[in-house]
Amino acid sequence: MPVEALGDYDDSNIFARILRGEIPSKRVFENEWAIAFHDINPQAPVHVLVIPRGAYRSWADFSAKASDAEIAGFVRAVGSVARDLGLEDPGYRLLANAGINAHQEVPHLHVHLFGGKPLGPMLAR
Ligand code: 5GP
Repeated sequence: MPVEALGDYDDSNIFARILRGEIPSKRVFENEWAIAFHDINPQAPVHVLVIPRGAYRSWADFSAKASDAEIAGFVRAVGSVARDLGLEDPGYRLLANAGINAHQEVPHLHVHLFGGKPLGPMLAR
């Protein structure tokens, strides 16, 4: 079920549990600000999720409430992950779903990073 982009943070969401190490994930990056791990249901040869460590539901929530250091740390982490995965040259796509219309399913901010093949048009028609 898609979730709303704003509202109270649900501490039991699946990415909160991954952050706490309660359920496993295939991590490819972690630092003070963010972690990145492979999506459990990949939609491209490379499909990695990058999430901030802080408790934010969506881009709207994060951009309104996070500190400048958290925002810089997260944005830099996304760039590092793309570089480290070798995606800069062939190219890749970043995507963040927010709220019902975008069909956001997990209420913890995450950026999808897709790559490894030509990705086609931006949106399904
Ligand atoms: P959304 O639709 O919220 O933008 O994307 C949520 C993503 O999280 C989906 O691509 C889904 O496959 C992924 N996902 C859901 N549960 C898990 C999980 O337990 N582990 C991992 N690694 N990915 C998950």
